[in-house]
Amino acid sequence: MEAFNRPFLTGREFDYIAEAHAHGMLAGDGRFTSRCHARLEQALGCAKALLTHSCTAALEMGALLAGVGPGDEVILPSYTFSSTANAFVLRGAVPVFVDIRPDTLNLDERLVEAAITPRTRAIVPVHYAGVACEMDALRDIAQRHRLMLIEDAAQAYGAHYRGRPLGTLGALGCLSFHETKNVISGEGGALLVNDATLLRRAEILREKGTDRSAFFRGEVDKYRWVDVGSSYLPGELVAAFLLAQLEQGDEIRRRRLEIWQHYHDGLAELEARGSLRRPVVPPHCAHNAHMYYVLLPSLAARQAVIGQLRDAGVQAVFHYVPLHSSPAGQRFGRAATPMPHTDAAAERLLRLPLWIGVDRERVLRSLVDALQAISAPR
Ligand SMILES: *Cc1c(COP(=O)(O)O)cnc(C)c1O
Repeated sequence: MEAFNRPFLTGREFDYIAEAHAHGMLAGDGRFTSRCHARLEQALGCAKALLTHSCTAALEMGALLAGVGPGDEVILPSYTFSSTANAFVLRGAVPVFVDIRPDTLNLDERLVEAAITPRTRAIVPVHYAGVACEMDALRDIAQRHRLMLIEDAAQAYGAHYRGRPLGTLGALGCLSFHETKNVISGEGGALLVNDATLLRRAEILREKGTDRSAFFRGEVDKYRWVDVGSSYLPGELVAAFLLAQLEQGDEIRRRRLEIWQHYHDGLAELEARGSLRRPVVPPHCAHNAHMYYVLLPSLAARQAVIGQLRDAGVQAVFHYVPLHSSPAGQRFGRAATPMPHTDAAAERLLRLPLWIGVDRERVLRSLVDALQAISAPR
């Protein structure tokens, strides 16, 4: 069986975990966490990186830093994971859903301005499949309307927009190191603080509302409870595992890109014949091969292909149930636009297994065979 996902190991993870234990400190913000922070800051050029226990946690910190409260509105795509909206709903805010672009399946920046109301506080673009949203346009809109731009870069570590790393283009960027992403620590994430004025409060929110970080830097003589907050930091075992992965980040991307390109080249002819549509990567976007997906002609075709692939021993999956049509999305949010492209992706998108070590030939051949089987006259 070609599984949909298998977590990749670089080989150094368990040595680093043993080292963390030998240091005699397993709680958060020890040596491995510092090394992860330094590596992320150096690789991405953000003002500050703060490890969190998930991208969900980073988004929750983003909602707190944006200061959203009951009745405030946040603009985001409907075609995304629940956490993008949930982080803001926890603060009482209303997610306002906007349709996606038909090419990249990213938030359609041309529809954002019309969705802004006097209650809008933030825009949360999601870089789907590690392909950048149109950040120049979104930054311009955010600036003119004084809205905070918070990037959901969960899928986007190692990807760029006009040469700049994703997650560093908004005031805040949220990364995920969940085992299904490219660089992993099981559960894990980071908040990238790009607007330095948010840094001090970000540290406090992450450390249970205390000024512990400032205390350890010697900036205050005792540490106290100074604000709201929670515990958003991972322990050192997770940071040790993550450091091994971050050190191999370029190699992981390179190896994933090879698989992505193999699928992409192998499906060109089927696209030309109209059997499917391949991903679109605009020339100014350098993606990270987080995902390979195809758009099939219909829901029925997708279901048939998933069945054929399963019979061939290949596990292919789909996502998302759009947030605007999900039970909680209907209860807490509202759609600001019609959703033709969101609904189409939800019905027609199919994700292929993409992990280091996957039998790419078998996956590709199985998909080609499956499409032939479903189009053959019976
Ligand atoms: C994976 C993902 C998340 C959640 O990340 P966690 O680290 O699991 O909390 C949020 N948004 C998007 C778009 C994702 O793909």
